[in-house]
Amino acid sequence: MTTTFTEPSESPALLLLGKRRDPLSERGVDCPGGLPEASDPDLVERARAAKAALGERVFILGHHYQRDEVIQFADVTGDSFKLARDAAARPEAEFIVFCGVHFMAESADILTSDDQTVVLPDMAAGCSMADMANINQVEDAWEQLAEAGIADRTVPVTYMNSTAAIKAFCGRNQGVVCTSSNAEVAMRWAYDQVGGVDGDGKVLFLPDQHLGRNTAVLQLGLALEDCVVYDPRKPYGGNTPEELERARVILWKGHCSVHGRFRKENVDAAREKVPGINVLVHPECTHEVVTGADYVGSTEFIIKTLDAAEPGSSWVIGTELNLVRRLANAHPDKDIHFLEDTVCFCSTMNRIDLPHLVWALESLVAGDVVNRIVVDEQTQTEARVALDRMLALPAKDASQD
Ligand code: SF4
Repeated sequence: MTTTFTEPSESPALLLLGKRRDPLSERGVDCPGGLPEASDPDLVERARAAKAALGERVFILGHHYQRDEVIQFADVTGDSFKLARDAAARPEAEFIVFCGVHFMAESADILTSDDQTVVLPDMAAGCSMADMANINQVEDAWEQLAEAGIADRTVPVTYMNSTAAIKAFCGRNQGVVCTSSNAEVAMRWAYDQVGGVDGDGKVLFLPDQHLGRNTAVLQLGLALEDCVVYDPRKPYGGNTPEELERARVILWKGHCSVHGRFRKENVDAAREKVPGINVLVHPECTHEVVTGADYVGSTEFIIKTLDAAEPGSSWVIGTELNLVRRLANAHPDKDIHFLEDTVCFCSTMNRIDLPHLVWALESLVAGDVVNRIVVDEQTQTEARVALDRMLALPAKDASQD
């Protein structure tokens, strides 16, 4: 049997800094025209003036995990899917400045009209999870599943936190996109395409193994033994063809570098420190953390849960630190803690700082579009197929990371 497995050197995943260069993950960090100094005392005023000069022509989106100095200029805040939809609902805005990460800006470009221009203030604002599945690796994996004789019984499901190319892959291979809120519905839909949850069909879940595992086991009732992890650096993902045949869920070996940091020990320590504390975590956390928590849900779920919480109640939150801090400030009547001892920002999201926002806005004022995100037409078309399949799923709040 011939294998189509591609050696890691030709199929770059995340590389250790300084080891080798990964041209696909180097999107460029140049700021031609001059990036303001972070120490410039006029930055806030410059951002305000540039935004005012652009008026209705610009619509600034701020992700929940974004730093405060940037979020103060957002016209709307939210998770990535909500922000992309908000942008699509503002067709009069010529420029969409996305203060989030690269895959989010791609989604905005897919969902907005051709007349709208999407700008990411810093091209280095990627997402470690999305970067853990590149399209060459996924195409290789699909061929491996075909060689193992299971591709025709496998439906690819990709989390919103993936590149446009992966969404397009799902579109052309009868798959679907999901969010952390509707992953259960999307996976059930996927199994229905291949005989149902109780049949022998499979789901290839990309790129977050934790969301895939948590959904399959805790919401669909599958067993942990039904899940295998697919490591793109190994033949058959590190499994035998027989193991792939037995599996019901094939989990891509990807994770979020923020949510993956939380440990069950953090949960135990919080409970010991504050008896009766409520543990609320995001489903991108490991299975151990999620099964040790009291509540699990998307960022929107976390926000709503704290809004509705009783004054005086105690909470420890397992999600990105900027959001947890903001929630703690917004709810001084509640006792809100962060589920980790060390700092846990989304470092790539935090690449978008005030100097980059000022640079992007002032460039637009000067008639110069910088850092435009453009998804090619074919990728857009195929990705939209997978996104439209998601939008046609039974209604459930489609909020996510
Ligand atoms: S928090 Fe995790 S999944 Fe979200 S953008 Fe950052 S690295 Fe990506």
